[in-house]
Amino acid sequence: MKVYNYKDLSKSKIEELCSRQIEDDKLVEERVTDIIKTVKNDGDKALLNFAKAFDKVELEKLFLDAEELKSIASTIPADAKKAIETAYHNIKTFHQSQLKTEDKIETMPGVVCWRESRAIQKVGLYIPGGTAVLPSTFLMLATPAIIAGCKDIVVCSPPQSDGKTNCYLAYCAVLLGIEKIYLIGGAQAVAAMAFGTETVPQVYKIFGPGNRYVTTAKTMVQNKVAIDMPAGPSEVLVVADETANPSFVAADLLAQAEHGIDSQAILVSTSIEIIEETLLEIENQLAILPRKEIAAKAIENSYAVLVNDLSVAMEFSNEYAPEHLILATEKFEHLIPLIINAGSIFLGNLTPESAGDYASGTNHTLPTSGFAKAYSGVSIDSFLKKITFQHLSTNGLKNIGPTVEVLAAAEGLDAHKNAVTIRLR
Ligand code: NAD
Repeated sequence: MKVYNYKDLSKSKIEELCSRQIEDDKLVEERVTDIIKTVKNDGDKALLNFAKAFDKVELEKLFLDAEELKSIASTIPADAKKAIETAYHNIKTFHQSQLKTEDKIETMPGVVCWRESRAIQKVGLYIPGGTAVLPSTFLMLATPAIIAGCKDIVVCSPPQSDGKTNCYLAYCAVLLGIEKIYLIGGAQAVAAMAFGTETVPQVYKIFGPGNRYVTTAKTMVQNKVAIDMPAGPSEVLVVADETANPSFVAADLLAQAEHGIDSQAILVSTSIEIIEETLLEIENQLAILPRKEIAAKAIENSYAVLVNDLSVAMEFSNEYAPEHLILATEKFEHLIPLIINAGSIFLGNLTPESAGDYASGTNHTLPTSGFAKAYSGVSIDSFLKKITFQHLSTNGLKNIGPTVEVLAAAEGLDAHKNAVTIRLR
């Protein structure tokens, strides 16, 4: 991990450090274009063929029904069942609190405006399942979809080697009341949900993380469906001062690094001692990690920055716009107002990112690659549309009418003007 001193960094070097190198992989784009076209043309037949080619399974049918899910779920170990239930309880409690009703506003006498939320009726959730099956992602996406009131929730996840799904995902489905899991992975799952097939219903918005094939497909189907957000490799930025614990900081950086070789784990500190001790701790902790090869490569692509004070650290963090921001300092309260760009924040020395990844209640589907400058993470709002209403009383029409008539005439739109004049008469 390289160490930089902030005072030696030029503006362009800071920009370079904050930009993510996302490969423009033409081969993946070509393959995904082809997969989307094939699913559009051949529907279920294409999905079965892709399962054979990429997932190495011959499927008899493309989904597991409620009975099959119940039977697989019954094999879940007791401790995993309890952990899923606890995480679900916290995620549900936090997301339920986001449901809000807005007030009606009288903008001028007799003119009343307001907004109401309506759930997106058909949503598609992609739960990754190539290298690891992720029940946490299932909870993070399906829980807000259900609370928001989405009517049709289509869930796709790649089939495992036995042509089924594992007991963790099956148990989540049972707990959430989801009656089908489509055994479809990769770009073909995204294409199936975007265009529909004989078996897979078409949806209006697709959610969920995934590998390059999944994220490229999501980008490509955007002229047909909405998507949650653009996605890149996962990342964390830790701001640490002299009150931080280097072992904890190292553990947090490695937790991020083990995701993949392109993950980034950034340390910004006011203390060179903390940086040096953290680097030593990283070496110690890395040596015994099962995913040490992956984590070591990610750490190699990561860096630390020494800054003069915490306000400069926050300036750097806002420029980087991390998916996850950990404030490893006892003074975190003072830093909260300085945060402008970040996906989810972890406050103080006892709040690891892992808590939010799994169970604190906040959502782990977050903007990466600097998109935290403009995007929020997944929440109840992601599953809702906000519809505006207005009502004019007789008095309201009299009050607002002349304004509309003048503006419509100024724009040369006489029919607009007439729609008011005819009522005023
Ligand atoms: P995945 O489910 O995303 O992809 C597996 C599918 O990829 C397979 O079913 C197959 O159809 C397709 N595929 C594999 N090789 C292919 C090929 N050569 N050509 C075409 N298609 C092919 O599972 P994964 O691969 O394990 O990736 C999961 C990703 O999700 C990881 O990168 C992980 O970091 C990311 N993730 C991100 C978050 C987040 O919130 N940012 C959360 C969880 C997971």
